[in-house]
Amino acid sequence: MRGRFITFEGIDGSGKSTQLAATASALRAGGIDVLQTREPGGTQLGEALRSMLLQRRMSPLTETLLMFAARVEHIDEVIVPALGTGHWVLCDRFTDATYAYQWGGRGIAQEWIASLESWSHPTLQPDLTVVVDLEPQQAALRRAREREPDRFEAQDAAFFARVREVYLARARAEPNRFLVVDGSRPGPQIVTQILERVKPWRA
Ligand code: ADP
Repeated sequence: MRGRFITFEGIDGSGKSTQLAATASALRAGGIDVLQTREPGGTQLGEALRSMLLQRRMSPLTETLLMFAARVEHIDEVIVPALGTGHWVLCDRFTDATYAYQWGGRGIAQEWIASLESWSHPTLQPDLTVVVDLEPQQAALRRAREREPDRFEAQDAAFFARVREVYLARARAEPNRFLVVDGSRPGPQIVTQILERVKPWRA
């Protein structure tokens, strides 16, 4: 018995964490065992790496390597075991975020990220990746309303425009894995769209 692996992506402030939590609640209400987790993080070591990644200055390559270091722990300790016991794993960011932020945002070579991906998880891929898409200006307004920016959130609109473009390009290249939702729509409508997409898996 294997559960489903669903990742949520989008620029900071797009609403991906909100829609992930609402989707998890709806699936649980429907009797599905759901594990909610996030990257970077999800394990004790991963959360320690997360706080460094979000706060400390480091080179873009160090940042990329630490993202994958945290990910390997997360996959081995949390994601694969949970899928094996039939849980649906809903994960806030995964490897698509490394392409979007470290390639699109920071300029690390795409091939380096592809190599690290093939070392870190040669076979595991999300069954579904939801991209919550929002204009960078709207996302910045949402962030400003509610929180102090971390090292990524403090980036300018051009950075987030590049990150967004990589997400959308990846979604166009793999339409079977991706679902792009309009993050400016009301949350419940977005969740309905996600539940519709996973409906065949629940039968
Ligand atoms: P992210 O995880 O993408 O950084 P969050 O889920 O933390 O974003 O949401 C950022 C802010 O936007 C929060 O204040 C949240 O309540 C709000 N928000 C989330 N989804 C929507 C939506 N569909 N419409 C309006 N506001 C939203």
